[in-house]
Order: sequence, then structure tokens, then C-alpha cells
Amino acid sequence: MQSSELTHTLSFGLHIDTGSPDDLRNGCLEARRIRNEVNRLDRHGWDWDDLRSVVVDNATHVKNTSQQIVDKILGEIETYHEHKDDGWGRPYPYIDKLYPMVMNHGEGYRLFLEDEDTVRFRISAAPRNHVKGELRGSPDHFDRVRTALENDEWRVGTAEVVHKHSEWRLHVTVTHEQHHVASKNDAETIVGVDVNEDCIALTAMNRDGAMLDSVVIEYPEIKERRHEFFTKRKRMQNAGQTAFESVVQTEERDYVHDCLHKVSRQVVDWVSQFTDPVIVFEDLKDMRDSIDYGTRMNRRLHSLPFAALREMVSYKASWRGIPSDEVDPEYTSQRCPRTECQHTSRSNRQKKRFRCQECGFQDHADRKAAVCVVQNWFAVATIVSELIRR
Ligand SMILES: [Zn+2]
Repeated sequence: MQSSELTHTLSFGLHIDTGSPDDLRNGCLEARRIRNEVNRLDRHGWDWDDLRSVVVDNATHVKNTSQQIVDKILGEIETYHEHKDDGWGRPYPYIDKLYPMVMNHGEGYRLFLEDEDTVRFRISAAPRNHVKGELRGSPDHFDRVRTALENDEWRVGTAEVVHKHSEWRLHVTVTHEQHHVASKNDAETIVGVDVNEDCIALTAMNRDGAMLDSVVIEYPEIKERRHEFFTKRKRMQNAGQTAFESVVQTEERDYVHDCLHKVSRQVVDWVSQFTDPVIVFEDLKDMRDSIDYGTRMNRRLHSLPFAALREMVSYKASWRGIPSDEVDPEYTSQRCPRTECQHTSRSNRQKKRFRCQECGFQDHADRKAAVCVVQNWFAVATIVSELIRR
């Protein structure tokens, strides 16, 4: 059975105290130049070994960083070649937005554990041009990067400097040397997940599409308490008590955080009962600005639990060797799950109740959505296996 190393990507904000954001920008501009040059030479039919050595020699980054960037770009081109029959587009020959700087720990960048609460970074935006400062991030990510720096079983791997939502961020990978996660392609049980602001619905199906079991775990208290905190903060704002306001905010964050840990443990316990499971989430990351999926989706995107809960579930699951995957969320809330019907309409859903306007099928709306998540996963798996057979 194929498996992969247990690797996590942690995301941090950068508080710079030596050097400037402009240095990072220049580093990412150089990465973009490398990216466009690699694509240009590849289209001219260059041998990849020659291409790699010429581009790395001409780049102004620390040598190891230039190598990492070239490898990332060649990886993108390789992925395109593997999937081109599936209609995947070739990477654009030229991009004009910034490209991430990819760096090796110890060469292109370095993290230092200063004390309990402080992790410092040093990024070489160019040789002898170091940008330094402190990482900013969630308590979870801090715990994990601290463990990776202190513990021999963990390795701090490559990191990328990215500019996102008008902020400079560092995405750091950490890998556990012994732990392995099962390959999602070998999964026997597919567990679809539908996350909402007051509950999470799970449906387990086997490879034949038969439902094994389902569960809806509710957490109305998170929604209620968040509403209470919101009212409390509003009152303080009106009274001008900004100092207390941030205390309330921390209290709220800690409360929600604890609840989500409890829920994610329940989810992983439930999933663990099945043979070789894979946990499938809806991929919502690019939807925020691109497509209007209606008010239900928007509410889910902007309510805190979705991203945090998903991350905690994936993290805890990977510790038990269980892989996670994601699918296109298209129509999961509107489509009838009966294979012979598939009628898709917004009016099929009335709050927590799903009732197909065509065939009359009825179910809990979120559990039904979790079934559709599994069906979307099967749809992609079928395309891939047909490609392999060809
Ligand atoms: Zn139907």
C-alpha cells in the first residue's frame, strides 16, 4: 500500500524588524522572472537538465533557493503533461503577479526558537540581504512549529514566502520522520463531510456507493455563544471600552477553539471505525471572490468554524494514518442524491430539510449534502481511473 510522509503546512504572518517588505517583494519578482524563463525555455524544447543549470546560474537568489523555485515550476509543467488528456490547461507562458520564493530550511531561510512565545525568522531575499523578525500565527501553528524545532522526530522542510490578502506570509512545511498516512487512492470507505455553523454531517460509503452509516454532530452552543460575545462587544464599543473588548475577543476565541477540538476528536473517532477511510471535504478556498454560490455558501464561508474545524479534523486524522481529500462543492446542497434522479434545484432545500421537488426523496439537508460530497469524489475518481486505463 502506497503511503506518504506525515507533512503539514503551517501558515504565519511576518512581523519584520530588520530589512523591509520591499526586499521580499524583490525576491518574489525574481522568482517570477525565473518562473517565466523556465516556461519559455521549456516551450523551446530545452533539455530539462540544461535548462535547470542555466536558469539557476543566472538567478540572483541564494543558489539553493533558485533550485527550489525551478523544481517547483518544472513540477507544475510535469503535472500538466500527466493530465493534459483530461483537458487541463498548460501553465501560462507568462504571469505578471508575484511568484512565491521557495526556500530550504538552513539555507534560504531559518527559524529560531527564542523563548516559549517567540519564534524568529531569517529569510534571505538575496545573498547577503536578510529580512528578519518574528512569526505571528495561531496558537495551534505555534505549538506545531515549536515541536518541529525542538523534537528530533520532526523535520522543518521547505517554506514559501507569499503575498496574500495584502500581507506577507510564510508557509512552512513540517514533516514527521516515522509517521505515514495511507494513500487516498487505496481508500475502501469514503467519508463525505458537510460543515455548517451549527453542525457537521458525515456520511460513510463503500466503493460500491452503498451507505454504511451517517451522523450529524451538532454544536449549537458555538453559534449561541458567538452571538452572546458579539452583543457584549457591541455594547462595549458603544461605551468606548476598547480595552475590555479585546479581552472578550480572546475569551471568545479560546471558547470556540476548545469546542472545535472536542468536535474534531468526535469526528475522527467516528471515522476510525471504518476500513481504510478517506475524509472528503468541500474545497471552498477559491470561492470567496470568484463565484456567487448564494447566501448559504457565503454564510458558511464567513462563519469561523469551517476552516478551523477542517484543519483540526485533517490534522488529528493524519496522526491515525487517515488521509483527507477535497472536491468541487458544486451543487452538493441542491442536488438529489438518488442516482436515477439527480434533480438539482435550490428549492429542493428548505433550511435543514431536503425534499426533492422531482421524486419526493427526503432527508436531513446536511447529511444529504455529505452524500453528494462523496458522489462528487466518485465522479473525479472515475475520470482518473479511466485515464489510467487508457
Ligand atoms: Zn430526486
